[in-house]
Amino acid sequence: MVFGVETMISPEEVPLEMAPPGKPVAKPSIFDLDSDERVKLTEACGEKGFRSRQLSEWLFTRYAGGFGEMLNLPKAFRARLAERCLDLDGTLTPVETAGEASSGTRKILSRLADGELVETVLIPAKDRVTVCVSSQVGCGFHCAFCASGLNGCVRSLTRGEIVAQVVRAARLLGRRPDRIVFMGIGEPFANYDNTLWAARRMNAPEPDGLGIGARHITFSTCGVVPGIKRFSGEGMQFELSVSLHAPTNELRDRLMPVNKHWNLDVLIPACRAYTKQTGRIITFEYTLVAGFNDGPEQARELVRLLRPFPSRVNLIPLNPVAEFSGKTPSIRTCERFRDFLMRNGINATLRQSRGRGVNASCGQLRRARSLADAGERVTEQNR
Ligand code: SAH
Repeated sequence: MVFGVETMISPEEVPLEMAPPGKPVAKPSIFDLDSDERVKLTEACGEKGFRSRQLSEWLFTRYAGGFGEMLNLPKAFRARLAERCLDLDGTLTPVETAGEASSGTRKILSRLADGELVETVLIPAKDRVTVCVSSQVGCGFHCAFCASGLNGCVRSLTRGEIVAQVVRAARLLGRRPDRIVFMGIGEPFANYDNTLWAARRMNAPEPDGLGIGARHITFSTCGVVPGIKRFSGEGMQFELSVSLHAPTNELRDRLMPVNKHWNLDVLIPACRAYTKQTGRIITFEYTLVAGFNDGPEQARELVRLLRPFPSRVNLIPLNPVAEFSGKTPSIRTCERFRDFLMRNGINATLRQSRGRGVNASCGQLRRARSLADAGERVTEQNR
């Protein structure tokens, strides 16, 4: 089976910070600043230091949409802040929120200061809410089944734009979200510095940050090996997921062009080294595609690949996208695949992807909107 993935990423195209720069915007976002920088900004606005703490509280514990809401700050201070920086609504202007009643999943589409669009998804499960955050506008890695990469990578998000997505989600929820996953649009390790900075800000105690535990913040990579190596040395308790999707180079090449650059022979040793160095277990994401990677042969190969070191496998039945011809396997096939892994000592879970009705696959809402903006016909399937 060939999925028409012709794109091959050449080595020069995948440095760690790979996205082209965005269009210049007039002002930085208030969410680009760390606490020291907020103190400096407060002083530059002619205010006393304690005002900076009040400002931080509005940002990270009250999730204010605009400087205008910060009523215990002097009016002149609010006006000076607005002259110098973008607030939440200016950093991420709400465009559309799509909800799905059955699962409670909500997808937020926001416009960035330079006019680009970004998606953030809220996923409730039991008493927890996970926020799926984007790290780039589009994606340069072109995985065959993923809607994010269809038009390539426009630019990386700034650190403030990444943090602001979580603040936006918190504002919508009326409280701090429980978990963060960098599984929205983009490749976090292709925007390494900004994503890591943003994760640290989400982790910083209130009111300097959002106070979300490091173990509740998950990075997900398609297999950018230099990023995995760098991440191994960060000394943080963030979680790592690796999108594997196939147990052999032959199959993985056909789904993920990144495998032509960092194939399993370099990816798996990097994952083992990460586990050894950090003592932390990687979750391997494995999207099941009918008749392609969901058979007993692939299950056996996956066991052979992963058995030498402790890990977890998260099986996801393919979420159909219009541009990919692969099909979702039956539940029975997915369960058989999971059971084989479990019997052979691999800790595996099977997740039903939630929120199909709200275009839950990465990039679908943004793509539908861009098509609509461009006046193109939006088909029923990719709407
Ligand atoms: N670039 C990162 C994070 C974004 S994608 C990465 O590749 O890990 C988040 C996860 O969703 C990845 O595991 C990705 O492979 C998966 N995914 C994307 N489109 C999908 C689809 N149509 N069905 C199932 N999983 C999908």
